[in-house]
Amino acid sequence: MTSSPIWHPFTQHGLQPEMIPVRSARGAWIKTPAGDLILDAISSWWVVTHGHCHPRIVGAIEEQARRLDQVIFAGFTHAPAEMLARGLIDIAPEGLAHVFFSDSGSTSVEVALKMALGYFRNIGAPRRRIVALEHGYHGDTIGGMSVGARGIFSAAYETLLFEVERIPFPSPGNEQATIDAFDAACANEPTAALIVEPLVLGAGGMLVYDARVLQELQRIARHHGALFIADEVMTGWGRTGALFASDKAGVTPDILCLAKGITGGSLPLAVTLCTSDIFEAHRSTDRSKTFFHSSSYTANPIACAAAVANLEIWREEPVADKIAALTMAQEERLGALRSHSAFSDARQIGTITALDLNVPDAGYLASVGLQLMQHFLDRGVLLRPLGNTIYVMPPYCITPDELDLVYASIAEAPDVLAGESP
Ligand code: PMP
Repeated sequence: MTSSPIWHPFTQHGLQPEMIPVRSARGAWIKTPAGDLILDAISSWWVVTHGHCHPRIVGAIEEQARRLDQVIFAGFTHAPAEMLARGLIDIAPEGLAHVFFSDSGSTSVEVALKMALGYFRNIGAPRRRIVALEHGYHGDTIGGMSVGARGIFSAAYETLLFEVERIPFPSPGNEQATIDAFDAACANEPTAALIVEPLVLGAGGMLVYDARVLQELQRIARHHGALFIADEVMTGWGRTGALFASDKAGVTPDILCLAKGITGGSLPLAVTLCTSDIFEAHRSTDRSKTFFHSSSYTANPIACAAAVANLEIWREEPVADKIAALTMAQEERLGALRSHSAFSDARQIGTITALDLNVPDAGYLASVGLQLMQHFLDRGVLLRPLGNTIYVMPPYCITPDELDLVYASIAEAPDVLAGESP
């Protein structure tokens, strides 16, 4: 067999030469060509919300593909985009009035940053400072990496990244330091925007923090005239228990980034929502004030139709009940691991749980990450630990029995790994 020419994302091919082929997926399960089933306990990188191949979304995609597959979105529009934009404004936090489309979480962040700087330039008071949270993750494009935590992921590209003011992560008991650092940063130099992952930092290690911090950060941002950007690429679409983490935290961002679950996890699509002040600062007869951003597939009609179907599912199906039941089911099962001496810092927010396996070399590159993943796969479970941090972020259709399988595989991981070590 010749080796594949494909270069996979976030994959060290030298350590992981073989990829697992996947033929189909339904609900919480993916299936290999050999017929093996794997339980998708991380929603295929946090995108699948209602389950793989939800019939309503698949139907909408089929229907739209026959009618209009793609059309240029500069100077043109179409029904799926219009319906989606209106639907999003209806459910988004108060004050968000305009929708800009792009294709991924990373591009929704790039758009957010450009909107913020464009706003201040266009109102004739340019600002360039961006403030971000320590341990944050906002994507792998240059802007996303710049505002995200620096480390092994960004080391090779450091010269391309722009400078950002970083404030400490508000770990329990240290919230005031974060708030004070933001106030000081704004007082020190006019700040264009603060960008945060509200309530939980995802790729940074599923680090949960208090809603009051966000309310304070928003108050300070308002006071200094800085924009508040909520990157809800991961937290959006029910993950934290509420539709959006901003709602749960009681904040109303000026700019909101959404992707992943916007299509229920079926097709790539993202949006950046903003206030009318930001839009109006760009609307002009002066062409130099245009928002200079586009991509070929902006608001692809098939992806928009999938997202419209997703909104219908949220409106008409018992999604909130499923999320509430999943939240409780996760709580029970995580509770049973809290006293396990091999784990520490068991934490949960809504449908997401996480805990750290006690190992000497903690961190994202902890060698235990790949061993853990292999162990879970041996048990028929897809979990992809962030180093020694194991987290569970399943689609909302997962059943209690399926969750039992996930947690049984976590509970036995320390012993299995200990048995394997030389
Ligand atoms: N922001 C956050 C908070 C994310 O979690 C991610 C992806 N995990 C991104 C941005 C980037 O999204 P994408 O991978 O779709 O570009």
